[in-house]
Amino acid sequence: MMVKMYAVANHKGGVGKTTTCLSLGAALAEMGKRVLLVDLDPQAGLTGALGFRPEELSSTTYTLLLDEADPKSAVLPTKVSGLFLIPANLDLAGAEAELLGEIGWDRTLRTALSPLREEYDFILLDCPPSLGVLTVNALMAAERAIVPVQTEYLALRSLKHLGEVITKVQRRGNPGLKVKILRTMHQSRSRHAQEASMELERLFPGRLYRTVITRTVRFAEAARAGLPITLYLPQSPAAQQYRELAKEVLRDAQEEG
Ligand code: ADP
Ligand code: MG
Repeated sequence: MMVKMYAVANHKGGVGKTTTCLSLGAALAEMGKRVLLVDLDPQAGLTGALGFRPEELSSTTYTLLLDEADPKSAVLPTKVSGLFLIPANLDLAGAEAELLGEIGWDRTLRTALSPLREEYDFILLDCPPSLGVLTVNALMAAERAIVPVQTEYLALRSLKHLGEVITKVQRRGNPGLKVKILRTMHQSRSRHAQEASMELERLFPGRLYRTVITRTVRFAEAARAGLPITLYLPQSPAAQQYRELAKEVLRDAQEEG
């Protein structure tokens, strides 16, 4: 069986989690894969970046987790053929406290998504910027964690805490979880960024994607247009970088699955 469930996680905000979910998902869909994105952030950045208005949606990740609704009823098609979304809205902000009152709270997402696994080649979970209940649910459900990290020394520090949570998840419920780091927002002409990138290679040998995503305003423009970068500027280096990442992910999924 192929690896298919990926949690895109880092408790630091603004590191490119949502952009990675969307752009990687769109690149995989372009390659003919069926891809489901799941917005796990109450701020609903992913839902907005695909052109939906979160406040108008009634079937969301919240209803999936807490109403035991049919998961298929929450899936929306997007402008990208082969790319689907379970959206979020602010309702999800209440989900953490409600889930904590439930038996097996940390496996709720895994159970809720299991009827959908057969229908998609890849499922990408866009985590919120915290290490709370929703992120732990995503790490419990996934076979891989993709951790976007800015190539800056300050960003490297926050990895320690995330590493501790991942180790706990591996020990206590999801031993198969593997972690790979994605370097994002890289300023290739900055000496500091180059050094931080090399430091990551030294600290995490074999656990980095080879593809590095460089910093460009095109991502913010694409999000405002409600499109993934692969549709907004198909020929841009930014789109090409996520296509390269998609190839790496595909290779990894086929080899180790
Ligand atoms: P997160 O989900 O981790 O909070 P986002 O993906 O929402 O981060 O990115 C935060 C902001 O940075 C957004 O405005 C996004 O468009 C922008 N962004 C994402 N990736 C890049 C990049 N490689 N270069 C420049 N800006 C980026
Ligand atoms: Mg986000």
